[in-house]
Amino acid sequence: MSASPVVTRFAPSPTGHLHVGGARSALFCWAYAKNQGGRFMLRIEDTDAARSSDDSARGIMEDLAWLGIEWDDGPVLSLADGRTVGGDARGVGPYFQARRVSLYNRCAEQLVKAGRAYPAFETPEVIDAQRREAVAAKKTYRYPRPEEIEPGRFNDALKARWDRALAGESHVLRFVAPAHEIIVQDRVLGAVKIAAGELDDFVIRKADGFPTYHFAVVVDDETMGVSHVMRAQEHLANTPRHVALQQALGFRTPIYAHMPLIMNMDNSKMSKRDKAKAARAKLQERVSKGLTPAAAAAALELPESEVASFLAKDNDSLAVAERIARVYDVTLPEIEVCDFRAAGYLPEAMCNFLGLLGWNPGMKSPDGKDLEKFDLAFLRQHFSIERIGRTNSKFDRLKLLAFNADAIAALPDAEFAARWRHWCEEFEPALVRAVPTDRWPWLARAVKARARTLRDGAKAAAFALLDDASYTLDQGAVAKHLQSAGGAGLRLLADARARLAAAEPFEPEVLHGVLEQMAQQNGGMGLVAQPIRVAIAGVAVSPPLPESLAVLGKARVLARIDRCIGLAST
Ligand code: GLU
Repeated sequence: MSASPVVTRFAPSPTGHLHVGGARSALFCWAYAKNQGGRFMLRIEDTDAARSSDDSARGIMEDLAWLGIEWDDGPVLSLADGRTVGGDARGVGPYFQARRVSLYNRCAEQLVKAGRAYPAFETPEVIDAQRREAVAAKKTYRYPRPEEIEPGRFNDALKARWDRALAGESHVLRFVAPAHEIIVQDRVLGAVKIAAGELDDFVIRKADGFPTYHFAVVVDDETMGVSHVMRAQEHLANTPRHVALQQALGFRTPIYAHMPLIMNMDNSKMSKRDKAKAARAKLQERVSKGLTPAAAAAALELPESEVASFLAKDNDSLAVAERIARVYDVTLPEIEVCDFRAAGYLPEAMCNFLGLLGWNPGMKSPDGKDLEKFDLAFLRQHFSIERIGRTNSKFDRLKLLAFNADAIAALPDAEFAARWRHWCEEFEPALVRAVPTDRWPWLARAVKARARTLRDGAKAAAFALLDDASYTLDQGAVAKHLQSAGGAGLRLLADARARLAAAEPFEPEVLHGVLEQMAQQNGGMGLVAQPIRVAIAGVAVSPPLPESLAVLGKARVLARIDRCIGLAST
């Protein structure tokens, strides 16, 4: 290992799913480390015991692995292909902050003994009251440093406080903020200055004994050898505190690079709340059209008060939003990586798109346009901090959809079939059950051309899920394609039935031949295909017919045609 190896880190708090913004941060950290021949580390920041969960940590790791963002150092995760990611090759773990508390305590004691931190014994109620007073006086609240605290000295008063703390009295530890100006040299944003005296004596260890985010991050970035801290701009305001702590602890200051925020197209911040917003808008629309809150509550199987408070924006409950989405058929915006996976996005399209949120390669493609399509190998080869932008980036869902459609189109048929099946096993298992394995490639081939997402593919394949004996026939389609012109379509359908009954083997190539021949004899494919589509799908739309018919198999096709002829003839 060289003298100062590049080590970047992604440090999520396991309090929910992996947000796309987090995924973008992880991607850039990964790309930079790889570009520099360094290491990418994953650290789980689980010091908020009440909000953290192992499930969430695991989910975040799985989402990163799904994207192909693999960490060198960090919790070990076994992948589906038998490989593992993570590990502790540098011996700087553990990688869960909750398991590093004794280290934080040692550093905290070091600060106290150096007169740079002190126990404070006010109850939360006292602090709250002080804060309210400040608000009432229109002042920014600052914890008033006790006069007995002398910066840089472990004097008798501080020793007495420390003894009380050691004896078990409830307290928090506060940092003795420096009196000098703090300058953060950010590689993206330039020098960010915080005037002398602006930092307050913030808490570094909570009453429950866990470090605050600021303290743990500083201790860990040092002790885990992090060379570059790359994170979203929303953390910029925290950075002076981190630098002040580093100075007090005698630590290096890593290189900082704060990345642009990710916004919705309307310039609002992209957040989990967008789901509640979308659900609320839909429910409000219903209410304005006469749905009573009581009826809504009954349909949602929720107490009326909960629905009312959701409508009144008193809460942004995800559970309520998801319930509304289910009952009133709303598509909630995808926000987290798992949402995009469930919606049928491919990881390579996601990574390509995320790679352009605040960075671009600054190259032209052969057609003279800005080069925008690239894979992870390209990103790691060309990524540089210099090309990270300063301004907010827009999350253009249509662009992502276009990227995804292109990524699907670029897949070889066999690979699409395998990956789509894998996706369906998780998200559309009924489809996997309905289609025999050996017919799956036909179905995949049939849906691929029009699928912008894997879910589009599943929607197009819905005809395969219909119950042969009870699916609905669209009356308009029946009238138009079967009954009009004196039942010409019905006669064609009867003819098709006879020919399909004789087709062997019942496979796309043979069926294609059968349909072509019929088309030549009957005035074109449209006239022939539409009646068959109505018969097998209930509507005049289906994926390419030879494949669709082959997927259903002869018995189901004939049963559907017979039923359709029966219903349409009456
Ligand atoms: N745990 C912090 C978060 O999830 C990490 C911030 C950082 O990268 O320092 O926002």
